[in-house]
Amino acid sequence: MKLKHDKFKTARGGASKLLELSCQLCDTAICRYQKDGTGNLWRLYVDRISSPNVSLTGEDLRCQNGHLLGVKTIYAKENRPAFRLISGSYAKKIIKN
Ligand SMILES: [Zn+2]
Repeated sequence: MKLKHDKFKTARGGASKLLELSCQLCDTAICRYQKDGTGNLWRLYVDRISSPNVSLTGEDLRCQNGHLLGVKTIYAKENRPAFRLISGSYAKKIIKN
């Protein structure tokens, strides 16, 4: 599992970490996610998602049991597809720092 290094990472400076996200309600795994830089996790950039257990092609991000976790958006500043996360809908665990 390798972290990506590209202009998006550089833009955020600092370290990246690898997270494992799961549904807060039913505890099923959602995906792994590379979080670049510090700060809260507001959105999931699609290019940073790996090992997804759910569909990334729809308008919503839902766990396998249908719980809503996020809504598809385009981060305009970078023209970058992402899911805007619904706070409290997911749990995260750091698997690599
Ligand atoms: Zn769920």
